[in-house]
Amino acid sequence: MAAADALMQAHDFTLALTGLNLPDAPKGEILALLSERKVPAIVFTATVDDEARKRYAEKKIIDYIVKDGHRTVDAVVRTVQRILNNKLFSVLVVDDVRAARSGLVEILERQNFRVSEAHSGKQALEILAQDPTIQLVITDYHMPDMDGYELTRRICDSRSSEDLRVIGISSSTDRLLSASFLKAGASDFVYRPFVPEELQCRIDNNIETLKQLKRLRELAERDHLTGLPNRRSFFERTRALMEIINETHECGAVAILDIDHFKKINDTLGHDAGDRALKKLAELLHTMCDEQQHIPARLGGEEFAVFLRGLDAHAAYQFCEELREQVEKNGRQLSGSSLALTISLGVVEIEKGEPFDNQLNAADQLLYLAKANGRNRVYSDMMITEGLQKIGRNG
Ligand code: GH3
Ligand code: MG
Ligand code: MG
Repeated sequence: MAAADALMQAHDFTLALTGLNLPDAPKGEILALLSERKVPAIVFTATVDDEARKRYAEKKIIDYIVKDGHRTVDAVVRTVQRILNNKLFSVLVVDDVRAARSGLVEILERQNFRVSEAHSGKQALEILAQDPTIQLVITDYHMPDMDGYELTRRICDSRSSEDLRVIGISSSTDRLLSASFLKAGASDFVYRPFVPEELQCRIDNNIETLKQLKRLRELAERDHLTGLPNRRSFFERTRALMEIINETHECGAVAILDIDHFKKINDTLGHDAGDRALKKLAELLHTMCDEQQHIPARLGGEEFAVFLRGLDAHAAYQFCEELREQVEKNGRQLSGSSLALTISLGVVEIEKGEPFDNQLNAADQLLYLAKANGRNRVYSDMMITEGLQKIGRNG
């Protein structure tokens, strides 16, 4: 009764958690009510037999959780989190037979996934090329234009299993099919007819692996204090950009910046205050960068770098000068005290064909000059060249 009242009053329930046998509805009538109102349900139950499983399948519930003492609450929380999180994942179902496809789509949509469909290997590849957010492909084996094995091979040629996983599926009786799929790069395989719980667990395991890999990658690539890319990730990303710049007419620049007399902040205000200043400076740097074009990074300690794609020497100098001014202007807010905070910078335009290390070293030398000549200033290769030209002109 209480559930029926609640359903009358609100219409936007994401999901329902329910027991099966309620005092005023002892025969699981709640499932019919929820299904009628299209509210997906998670059931907790004392026991599960074949009869109950059949009933759950008919009523299209999301999942059931067997009551197991103190672990039940954890299981409920995990299941709800999983269902809500599934919304972030796109799955592509590939099968030439429409009925088989819609069966899978229904199961996946019930689990809250975003789902696309393809009726052939060719269409699957087209959809994948257009939609890089797809992270899981479930593909049939027998298809007229391209079998699932070939499709898996092609997908794995262009996408790593770190960001896209393939599950093969087939009603064939050939027991070697699973091995072929796995060898082609699939992460898993299920024979039809499948037990829905088995398929669901395999999907969940693959999604969980993707999540953990993403977390590991973030831990490996991000500086833990500021959240900016770390030194290693900076070099990896710039390597790819350098290839583009070397092969095209595009220009670029790289700057190194270092906080002036940072030791004084630590010594006066303490290490924690120093950490907070580093975080705030990283935020400012991040907001001044164009996410598509620039790569800011923390190289270590109080030293940062920015790769400025698309900027020539002049524009890069302007960028650095503006950054320097912003830091100077907000110095007290950055240090969290009455202490001023400033930075010095060295910046060079990328010279095509030169090793990146050399160019970063050049920026570092200019930073050193900026420090030696009074700090809170930008030194650029452009200034050096112009200075030399001036000297040349003056004799
Ligand atoms: P300069 O103007 O010549 O750059 O002087 P500086 O004091 O900034 O440079 P120095 O290299 O002498 O000192 C850098 C200090 O930065 C020393 C170190 O303790 C501190 N530091 C490095 N990493 C961290 C960090 O993660 N947190 C904090 N709070 N301090 C750090
Ligand atoms: Mg310093
Ligand atoms: Mg330093």
